[in-house]
Amino acid sequence: MKMNKFVKTIIGYERMKVQDFYTEEEPYRGEMVFVAQVELYKSETYRCPVCGRKCVSYGYQRNRVKRWRALDLGSHRFYLECEAPRCKCPEHGVKAVKIPWAFPDSDYTYAFEMQVAYCAANEPTNLVARKYRIKWGTVGNCVGRVQDNVPPLQPQSFKNLKRIAIDETSYQKGYKYITTVMNLDNGEIIWAADGFGDEVLREFFEQLTDEERAGIEQVAADGARWITRQVEAFCPNAVRCVDPFHVVGWATGALDNARKRIAADTKKNGLPC
Ligand SMILES: [Zn+2]
Repeated sequence: MKMNKFVKTIIGYERMKVQDFYTEEEPYRGEMVFVAQVELYKSETYRCPVCGRKCVSYGYQRNRVKRWRALDLGSHRFYLECEAPRCKCPEHGVKAVKIPWAFPDSDYTYAFEMQVAYCAANEPTNLVARKYRIKWGTVGNCVGRVQDNVPPLQPQSFKNLKRIAIDETSYQKGYKYITTVMNLDNGEIIWAADGFGDEVLREFFEQLTDEERAGIEQVAADGARWITRQVEAFCPNAVRCVDPFHVVGWATGALDNARKRIAADTKKNGLPC
């Protein structure tokens, strides 16, 4: 396979010319990295990153050339290098040109950010950062860009759901709530909606067919009565389970209350506590 074809294949983009592909030593880390120097086809240059329209050149902001971190090649970092001028779109104004392998203003390729985001959905941030050799904050930035740019998942098929977990959580300092449903067999969030309560959860169960509802065997959640009510109403064969996180929390809370009560009693009766 020729170098040109090789780089196009790993980046997953055809409409560019590969000028060079070489290794170099990174000055700070002293590690060997791969670099591919590429040039977009003329027809793909000066496109607006918002509408994709072909625009006029507007010079360079800082450096002529920019690097994007792509997925590692073997154990080595791999960078794609290309000129990154600005263009002036009649509708969106002056912008850095559209780069077909990266989200706007990103220093990473789509593939890299998608992998980081997918990994971050399943693993703690510090592990993801170590795995991909990026900063802790970069993990969040990658996830944010993927969320902003990738269209929402197609309506899910809820076939073969057996064990699910339901939870509500607050954000924006407790002003807003979100309810999520997770498939416990693969760890994926399969549904989420703003708010909580009977009305919200009913929406989820109403999307399922009778057969799918009947297939649910176990539902884990905290002690919320609205969850119990909806599970009883829609899932005839499900066992309502309480998740260990809340059980441990309740037990510790109860123990704490008992300790306080005994301490207060002992004090009242004049015994040393
Ligand atoms: Zn535009």
